Amino acid sequence: MSGSHDLQCSCGTAAIRLEGAPRVRGHCHCRACRVLLGVPFHSVTAWNPEQLAVTRGGGRLLSFQHPSLSMKKVSCRE
Ligand SMILES: [Zn+2]
Ligand SMILES: [Zn+2]
Repeated sequence: MSGSHDLQCSCGTAAIRLEGAPRVRGHCHCRACRVLLGVPFHSVTAWNPEQLAVTRGGGRLLSFQHPSLSMKKVSCRE
């Protein structure tokens, strides 16, 4: 799969563009995802940083770095 994918948050403030195909895709139920996201499992894709660009609302994003996991959650602040 190639091309680009334009996605936005539910309120439309922030948008991202993903280029190409994800490095990994699947359903994850590992402990780290369950702790960080507070869900029993989720569908996930993993992308290299250079494949992702914030195209709108970058200044309106909140970032949460988990204190013990090497994982970060980013969401719209609206
Ligand atoms: Zn939003
Ligand atoms: Zn996981």
